[in-house]
Amino acid sequence: MRPDCGAAFVVEVEGREQLIVIQEVERHKRSDFQGVFTAIRRAVAGEFELAPEAIVLIKAGSIPKTSSGKIQRYACRKNYLAGTLNAVGQWQTSDGLPQASPPEGSASVEKNIEASPHPSKPRHQKSGPQREVNDRLTQLVVEEIRRVAKERAEGMTLDSLIVETGMDSLERMEILASLEEKFGGRFPEEILPDLETTRQLVVAVEKYLGTEPRPRSVCPADVEIPEAAYHFDLFPEYVSLRGSLDMLDSSGLGNPFFVVHEGPTTDRTIVDGRELINFSSYNYLGMSGDPAVSAAAKTAIDRNGTSASASRLVSGQRAVHLELEQEVTRFLGTEDTVALVGGHATNETVIGHLTGPGDLILHDALAHNSIVQGSILSGARRRPFPHNDWQAANRLLEQFRHEYRRVLIVIEGVYSMDGDIADLPHFVEIKKRHKALLMIDEAHSIGILGATGRGVAEHFGVDRADVDIWMGTFSKGLGSCGGFISGCKALADYLRYTAPGFVFAAAMPPPSAGAALAALHVLESEPERMTRLRENSQLFLALAKQHGLNTGMSKDSPVVPVILGNSIHCLKLSKAMFNRGVNVSPILHPAVEESASRLRYFITACHNEQQLRYTIDVMVEELEKIDPSHLPRAGSEAAVVG
Ligand code: PMP
Repeated sequence: MRPDCGAAFVVEVEGREQLIVIQEVERHKRSDFQGVFTAIRRAVAGEFELAPEAIVLIKAGSIPKTSSGKIQRYACRKNYLAGTLNAVGQWQTSDGLPQASPPEGSASVEKNIEASPHPSKPRHQKSGPQREVNDRLTQLVVEEIRRVAKERAEGMTLDSLIVETGMDSLERMEILASLEEKFGGRFPEEILPDLETTRQLVVAVEKYLGTEPRPRSVCPADVEIPEAAYHFDLFPEYVSLRGSLDMLDSSGLGNPFFVVHEGPTTDRTIVDGRELINFSSYNYLGMSGDPAVSAAAKTAIDRNGTSASASRLVSGQRAVHLELEQEVTRFLGTEDTVALVGGHATNETVIGHLTGPGDLILHDALAHNSIVQGSILSGARRRPFPHNDWQAANRLLEQFRHEYRRVLIVIEGVYSMDGDIADLPHFVEIKKRHKALLMIDEAHSIGILGATGRGVAEHFGVDRADVDIWMGTFSKGLGSCGGFISGCKALADYLRYTAPGFVFAAAMPPPSAGAALAALHVLESEPERMTRLRENSQLFLALAKQHGLNTGMSKDSPVVPVILGNSIHCLKLSKAMFNRGVNVSPILHPAVEESASRLRYFITACHNEQQLRYTIDVMVEELEKIDPSHLPRAGSEAAVVG
């Protein structure tokens, strides 16, 4: 094709607009234009989601141009309609306008699927090897295409591009999803972009989903429904859980879950009347239990009661909600904020609401459950990328971005299991490059990262406006409960009026809003809390590393795992620590892989040096007893990896 020698325009046929493309070709390349037609159709469909009805290839130097060299589209259109283009090849759909005289080398109009008595053997075969396809499967696939495409399926052949019918990529994805549903199974992600024709779909269904549709469930009166379908105690998943809990009971290690704590959990906690050094709560800045924060919660109760008793939209709104949202907006430097009743619910409802079928969600492989649940709820395609690997995410975007309407990338400021920090500047770079949306979950970084606690943007000096959705929770650094979304006004307004978890849920309880608001003010007036948190975290990590403990990827954050890769050892160590006055939670499979099972330490600003040193010493002593191999000498390979 000759560069800058093409034109596209619209003609109207029976009240319907048709896109026509004309293009000059080089003099010496005149014989087989099939590849050229396909390339143009694909490029136009991919770039604009439009399907040309006709493509006319014309002689070099024959496209109408002005004296200054500009293409005259109007003249092109006129000549096309008059059939006076200097055509050397032409392709058109069956109902495209015919050229006056079909030129030599032009492709024949393809026969449509419905007209063909044997859909698997269309009368017109395109050049190149074609796979024979199964007749029955073809019928089933065509059924799904017709269901979505309706009248646009008319004229389709086995080999015409699905998007050429005028269906957009969303509808193409709907067809793929309904085939997956019909046959039961999933197409591998990497082949999705290649499923462009009916024939390719039939072949892929046969290969990846099988030849038989999932049987429709019939329920005649005599089919017996197993008890496990309607008794909770017989649910297989419950039976499996029961087995694990029974094993825990019989291990003699005790059940580390649902321990009752008597009072606020800061650097200390009380269990069964016994005071312990505490590392199992994310009260990073000691805001929960802080007198000013508690007083604000009480004032909010006195003014508003314990519940807002309605959705914000209806009569649940209180001044404290508005003040909280305004203060978060000011603190972060965004345009607007919406506060929701829970952090987990925030991710679920917002991700679930902003994306849908035909969209793609790329999230970190270590994403929090709320992100994964929201992604599943949305019905969008979900692709985890290896942890913090922006290059892998970039490769996925290069491959798949054009296949989807919206692409949402979700990462976390500080990763809650591993205590490392997202490589935000690179994620901003790729989200811009690929016109994707970027969402950051700052649950563990608000009040924690950055010189003034403004989170991961402050940590890296990233422009606030470069991230589309700032999500955070009030349950960690801010000593309360609830979640928020902060960003541009359109986003906040849209969520306020439509996000199901906001609109159809009771407002955040007034005392929670009051506490979060007060905590934000304490954070600003007492920056030394953040300094202490940082110093404590650094000291604890350094001490653990000195002893060769495997602290994984933790860096510059108050989350420090000690990875043992053995659930029993984790339970034993946690119990031994408890007996020696230290409360730290084991994190076991399935929360993490067995090889990554660990004790997770949440460091707080309230801890003191003595507590931190004591804890490391006790841990080392106890690990010596459990399995000294967890303590390779500092400087050894494992310690370096750690
Ligand atoms: N995101 C992350 C990264 C989290 O760690 C958590 C909770 N631990 C949540 C969201 C959910 O927040 P909440 O507990 O406030 O509901």
